[in-house]
Amino acid sequence: MPRESKRARLARMHDEYAILCEVFPEPRCALDFETPLQLLVATVLSAQTTDRRVNTVTPTLFAEYPDVEALAAADPERVEDIIHPIGFHHAKARNVIGLARRIVERFGGEVPSTMQELVTLPGVGRKTANVVLGNAFGVPGFPVDTHVMRVTGRLRWREDWAADPPDPVRIEREITACFPPGEWTDLSHRLILHGRATCHARRPACGGCPLRATCPSAESGMGVS
Ligand code: SF4
Repeated sequence: MPRESKRARLARMHDEYAILCEVFPEPRCALDFETPLQLLVATVLSAQTTDRRVNTVTPTLFAEYPDVEALAAADPERVEDIIHPIGFHHAKARNVIGLARRIVERFGGEVPSTMQELVTLPGVGRKTANVVLGNAFGVPGFPVDTHVMRVTGRLRWREDWAADPPDPVRIEREITACFPPGEWTDLSHRLILHGRATCHARRPACGGCPLRATCPSAESGMGVS
């Protein structure tokens, strides 16, 4: 592919995103939740597993611990028992109880709504904080997960598309600079949905991909996994 100017790449990004908007008109968070605390807990639990699996354990967890005070006082062994099917249950139980305690002690029982405060909670990094900001508080956030890293790399939406390992903070900065803040959360959802549906890690289904006409990695995937 001949070298692409920044302006041409930006135009292509917006054209490709318009197609993703048609394919996924109403994206939503795949984790089941009703409150910011539930989304925060579910997102922490989703590390190294699928959202679908998390959704199988959270109904019991949220029923037994309906508020932050109850979770802060939870018996770790009982929480481990409930979340055992999703793996890493020791560390995840420690994190969700720990973050509940921190919310009670430092934030008056309310989940904080800023990036700076959220990342002080146990088990919460920028990705989790962006999920909570965008989906629970309506604050623009662009979560960068493995799908977002892979898809933005294959589409060469970013300068460092070949970086190994990719830098999620740099990806967040580069991609959000190209779209209005109001679009960031849905943009992340759509990239994740496209990664799950078509642009798979091992064998991207380029033949049926709606972005095939302009994707620089069509057919090859270009080794970005
Ligand atoms: S053409 Fe292939 S590599 Fe490019 S976005 Fe589609 S599935 Fe992914």
